[in-house]
Amino acid sequence: KKIIFSGIQPTGVMTLGNYLGAVKNWVALQEEYHCCYSIVNLHAITIRQDAKALRENTLAAYALLLACGIDPEKSIAFIQSHVQAHAELSWVLSCYTQFGELSRMTQFKDKSARHADNVNAGLFTYPVLMAADILLYQADLVPVGIDQKQHLELARDIAQRFNGLYGNVFTLPDGYIPKLAAKVMSLQDPTKKMSKSDDNPKAFVAILDKPETIIKKFKSAVTDSETQVAYREGKDGINNLMSIYSAVTGKTFQVIEDEFAGKGYGEFKLAVGEAVAETLRPVRERFDAYMKEKAYLEDCYRKGAEKAQALSQRTLDKVYKKVGFLAK
Ligand code: ATP
Ligand code: MG
Repeated sequence: KKIIFSGIQPTGVMTLGNYLGAVKNWVALQEEYHCCYSIVNLHAITIRQDAKALRENTLAAYALLLACGIDPEKSIAFIQSHVQAHAELSWVLSCYTQFGELSRMTQFKDKSARHADNVNAGLFTYPVLMAADILLYQADLVPVGIDQKQHLELARDIAQRFNGLYGNVFTLPDGYIPKLAAKVMSLQDPTKKMSKSDDNPKAFVAILDKPETIIKKFKSAVTDSETQVAYREGKDGINNLMSIYSAVTGKTFQVIEDEFAGKGYGEFKLAVGEAVAETLRPVRERFDAYMKEKAYLEDCYRKGAEKAQALSQRTLDKVYKKVGFLAK
């Protein structure tokens, strides 16, 4: 069986973008692969976090993964800071990654512009930690949204370079990017990706938003001055809504265009809002139930960490030997 690794940051409430672009696929892949899924809190502190909020968001993100359908019996679901090898391999790999390569990463450029008061070294080396996450588990496939494609290519480059020097230490990972909704856009500025760290809550739909809130956010989604529901170059707002609607209902763009022919945007936005609300309703209900079972959640993430620890240590030991660290 092939191995899958992916992660999500506990930087806030998970969005519809995270769900359609990543987590929904994670669930589907569990049947066929060995899957490792992590709440990547080491990544989260590249942006300043409140300690108490980070702790709460980490537990909530874990519960939300289970609510989305990640099965802790089938998959290894763990919290990144519980497994030491991530930070350790990250340091080694950072010595095999060039300053110039990291300087080309568009997420660094975006995030350092948005957080100009805290352009820390961790934000810069974020992709190295991500490479460590993936390579530790010898992952074959990494299901992510398209915004992570560049980071994934860097992880491959680092792995290839390391293998070139020391023999086959790492499996070269491939991306697994969904065809539909690989990039869900902001509802307020459809040229920007929907992001959970957006300051404007109307820009994103949180998985845990109530149905009324979801519908309201879609009603106020920014579109264009035309009236026809059609997927066309330049109609970013409508294109985004069509992709979302298609991803949650399984309808093709043609079927959607026919369904809303002559009906105008108002009716379409309402339909999208309702369809999304229905998709997310059971997730929210399961989340509420899990959050009442703190002991169960603890048990799950501890077991997950144990399994992840064992797998990752094997890779780390090999790496330490290859680079010439004296054995204990
Ligand atoms: P942040 O703004 O803090 O980086 P984020 O919303 O980008 O938060 P991440 O934890 O960085 O969330 O990413 C988790 C996963 O969700 C990644 O696989 C990423 O590719 C995917 N993802 C994030 N935003 C979107 C989006 N708008 N559309 C599709 N996939 C997305
Ligand atoms: Mg992100």
